[in-house]
Amino acid sequence: MGSDIQGSLWEATAQGRTDWPTLRGDLTTDVAVIGGGFTGCGAALALAGRARVALLEAENIGAGGSGRTGGQVIPGLKYDPDELERMFGAELGPRFVEAVGSVGDEVFGLIEKHGIACDAVRKGWLQPAISARTLELVRNRCEQWARRGAPALFHDRDRIAALVGSTIYHGGWEDKRAGHVQPLSLNRGMATAAERLGAQICSQSPVLSLQQENGRWQLRTPGGTVTADTVLIGTNAYTDKLWPGLSRTIVPMVSIQAATDPLPPALGAGILPQGHCSSDTRRLLWYFRRDAAGRLLMGGRGPFRENILPDDLVNLRAAVDRLFPQLRKTPFRYYWGGKVAMTKDHLPHLHLLAPGAWTVIGYNGRGVGLGPLLGRYLAELALGKKPADIPFPVTAMKPIFGYPFTRTVARALVKYYRYLDRREAA
Ligand SMILES: Cc1cc2nc3c(=O)[nH]c(=O)nc-3n(C[C@H](O)[C@H](O)[C@H](O)COP(=O)(O)OP(=O)(O)OC[C@H]3O[C@@H](n4cnc5c(N)ncnc54)[C@H](O)[C@@H]3O)c2cc1C
Repeated sequence: MGSDIQGSLWEATAQGRTDWPTLRGDLTTDVAVIGGGFTGCGAALALAGRARVALLEAENIGAGGSGRTGGQVIPGLKYDPDELERMFGAELGPRFVEAVGSVGDEVFGLIEKHGIACDAVRKGWLQPAISARTLELVRNRCEQWARRGAPALFHDRDRIAALVGSTIYHGGWEDKRAGHVQPLSLNRGMATAAERLGAQICSQSPVLSLQQENGRWQLRTPGGTVTADTVLIGTNAYTDKLWPGLSRTIVPMVSIQAATDPLPPALGAGILPQGHCSSDTRRLLWYFRRDAAGRLLMGGRGPFRENILPDDLVNLRAAVDRLFPQLRKTPFRYYWGGKVAMTKDHLPHLHLLAPGAWTVIGYNGRGVGLGPLLGRYLAELALGKKPADIPFPVTAMKPIFGYPFTRTVARALVKYYRYLDRREAA
């Protein structure tokens, strides 16, 4: 490992504005948005110019999961389209599948429309299979999306080896709707675009309390208050105690990433040569891609704390060495981590918390695409759209039963999944 190893690659290379004002004094607005990640900024951007909107972020724009992600914009969810249609029925099911399949158009459309500089690359996502069993799963997944008209291609072992640049996989599928971005640049760019259209964006403004008085929401921050008709909460894995019980609807798990220096052509030429991003079929998946400067990024499950230490990178190091043996002597230059919000049913949840208070929570590691989309849905609900007109189920909040034990269960599951993955990919 290099001795000058540093923090987040995205912090070191992001473009865009960082000097947002802190809320000072009292403000009245139509909609207050809590959280300055993809969800909150997506909501503010969709509302700006159509209603008065103020966004309050506790730290900096992009400080939560959004500014730390792998930047992979991946359509779909853990469940395949046929299964989702079965789960949500004949009316909502197909609309739901279409919505979660549309995140590439949503995100890359926003980037183009608002001219956001964020190293956007839309060359597709590869899901290579670690075993003959998971190859059948992805063959089925690919077939289901292709049947719905998606540009989905199944690849045999040789073709996947050429596209990934590694011979360890059994084959896989490609979703051409997908792509990748510099996530912190995108997050900042969305905030800037929202402000340009009239939204008020405040950083270093944690919402300390939220109360309804005379039919309006009162939000208190250290520097001032906001009074709003509607409040939208986009705090995902960074949800605190602000809304009682909300943090107990998710299990925050830590994901970590590391990046090399830009790879010299002799080492990097064969690695993801067509610009794909990728995450494989492990239960604790390996996700990887190149960035605009040609660095290799590798991500995976981290420890049960956010304070990441060089020793925590041992699994990522082993992943790089196995996938790309030519990089065995190439050190990581950057490493960082953050929290991912997992739900018990592996689905994101859109809740009506109280009249005029909405949230989306629990992206299960798919918020780069889903965050801007569901942020827009929150905005449409705030503007008066009926829940039935949103292609997403609106449900009541339900904390996980036996929540205090989820951490223990999660630890045991991670160990077990790591064992199963090792055995299956051996
Ligand atoms: C290491 C890592 C890699 C990932 N890679 C991918 C990937 O490649 N693709 C993908 O789709 N997803 C990925 N994810 C998941 C993705 O990051 C999230 O799903 C997504 O960013 C969630 O966006 P959000 O806006 O809902 O929440 P966040 O971006 O987490 O934003 C929530 C914000 O709310 C703020 N906040 C909390 N409480 C308050 C309060 N009381 N007042 C004001 N503000 C508050 C926080 O400070 C935070 O900035 C990854 C996550 C991690 C950690």
